[in-house]
Amino acid sequence: MNKLIPQKRWQQLLLGAAVLLIGFLGLHFSAKLFLEPARPTALNAMLQQMRNHSGAWTRTEGDVSILILDMQKNSVAGMAIAPSGIFVSAKDGRKYFVADYHGKFSELALALYHKGQTDAFPLAVLAKDPADAFWRPDAGTILTILFLAAFVVYGFRVRGGGFKFSKKDTLVTFDDVIGVHEAKAALGDIMAYLKDPKGFTELGARPPKGVLLSGPPGTGKTQLAKALAGECKVNFIPATGGDFSAMFLGVGAMRVKSLFRKARKNAPCIIFIDEVDGIGRRTTTENGGPSEAEGNRIINQILAEIDGFDTSSGVIVIGATNFPDAVDPALLREGRFDRKIYIKLPDVTDREALFQLYAKKLQTHGDLDFNQLARLTTGLTPAAIAYVVNHAALISARGQEKHIPMANFLEAIEVCRMGEVNGSATALTEAERERIAVHEAGHAIVAQVLGVGRVEKVTILPRGGALGVTLVTQKEDKQLHLKSELENRIQMLLGGRTAEILTYADASSGAASDLKEASKIALTMVANLGLGDQGTLFNLEALAALNVPPDTSKAVAEAEALLATQNAHCFALLRDYDAALKELTGKLLERETIDGIEVVQAVADVRMRLEVAGGDRRSANSAMRVTNQTQLPQDIPCVSGACADALQDSLSATQQPA
Ligand code: ZN
Repeated sequence: MNKLIPQKRWQQLLLGAAVLLIGFLGLHFSAKLFLEPARPTALNAMLQQMRNHSGAWTRTEGDVSILILDMQKNSVAGMAIAPSGIFVSAKDGRKYFVADYHGKFSELALALYHKGQTDAFPLAVLAKDPADAFWRPDAGTILTILFLAAFVVYGFRVRGGGFKFSKKDTLVTFDDVIGVHEAKAALGDIMAYLKDPKGFTELGARPPKGVLLSGPPGTGKTQLAKALAGECKVNFIPATGGDFSAMFLGVGAMRVKSLFRKARKNAPCIIFIDEVDGIGRRTTTENGGPSEAEGNRIINQILAEIDGFDTSSGVIVIGATNFPDAVDPALLREGRFDRKIYIKLPDVTDREALFQLYAKKLQTHGDLDFNQLARLTTGLTPAAIAYVVNHAALISARGQEKHIPMANFLEAIEVCRMGEVNGSATALTEAERERIAVHEAGHAIVAQVLGVGRVEKVTILPRGGALGVTLVTQKEDKQLHLKSELENRIQMLLGGRTAEILTYADASSGAASDLKEASKIALTMVANLGLGDQGTLFNLEALAALNVPPDTSKAVAEAEALLATQNAHCFALLRDYDAALKELTGKLLERETIDGIEVVQAVADVRMRLEVAGGDRRSANSAMRVTNQTQLPQDIPCVSGACADALQDSLSATQQPA
């Protein structure tokens, strides 16, 4: 958040150096002026001038012969002998300098003067060279001054300067933040408090002090905090957890103090600490290192500041974190960051609104199907959607188009999800192309038959690291996954390999990432979710929590059995849909990319034929699978958490790697 500091650092350093330099020169000259008042004699005037502008002499270096000649001709107006040479002013206005490091020439000049071979003229012997009155810094001095300046500026900075605050009238409002309705609602009483801190306390209500926003990165936590400030018309001071850690002990706590002082001065005010987990956790080890001690001190200072709030001060601290578990528990206790708000990923409606918002600023072309865009971007954060929209504009710019059509948005989503189209297609043989077509058609058919999601597109154009892609999206965002759904997903992942074996009676290496993904799901089901076929409820993560070395062999064996069962189902299914497989493979070879609707059609045709032929033609397994997608048994346990993470990747796109 607080990126202002590093950007300004060089400016601050230069400013510091300039201030020091000017101060140094100013002191120097004023000392010359005030400590040595000039006496108005001819010699003194000359010496004074020599000290301040010795360049008039040193610019012209004279020869000793000229000096002797000038003396003999009585044309010397004044002379000063300095350690490094002789400064001569001639009566005709010439000024020159005769270098004399060994004093021989000055001896000679003094001898001539002494012998009376010339008329008397003002003569002075200087203890040091006048040139040093005209201060010329050498590299060492400059470095020293810069170092001192840097040190001073850094000192000021580490002592707690640098927290910039945004004035209340420069901020966004809730209307600018799409979605996060629950979060906005949860901030209701905070808004009431910030708008009228006194009224709130007069009611006898204990005002909130801190709010912790948590959620995946890119979900707009900072934006929400800013919008809260804008909505309540209060000032906003952003900081990050890392701002408090410093090179010197005790400085972090000082920065905390300075931050809160600034907030109180600018109340009503919101302090926003991004990455609040970056402050660290307090440790209890007695012989912890100095960094641990510093971390403890920073957190203690924050706790003291929050606890010490005057209830009517109108200051609220908002922390944001992607890892709420890493935040020190003391910070989360009542009276501190006691309001916890989870910021969810935007749902399909929010994503539609986000696309509309971002696209408004662009020159789009024709009607954009925002609903389709939203559907294709399950799991993307607002930041990622902004990236997609911008990338669509870039594609138009690349093609020197004047407007951005829908196709570019779709292309941008695919780039975001699967990587750029790459040119390795030429390296594929015809046999390989055919095999990839069969493989992708297999994925698409299983996905469609089992209702894993909406098949949007199947392509055998290599993208990112994949040789072909079947893009399957979810109709809605899922928080829970059923056992049957996970099994269907495993079958979809196995579908590519199964189709290859059914067509060529031989498997290929192309299914490696499919198998990896399927194995991950199977193992998660068995080891963490209690969703294995053998009814094991044991969660292996419990062992790690208790520091017991986990024995995974049994879980792996069970996951293998689960995969084998699903593989058998998948074979049965694709055997039934052999006609669709052949049809889609042909279309893929012909056109390289086919639309999801063609998959739907091909599957529907075969399904109708199967139904007409009657139940006896269908294998028992595939019949069961087909019913599964429409009627999910209600007593199947729900899953969430770890599994949702593990599934995220395989959820929307299945890829066949090189
Ligand atoms: Zn595959």
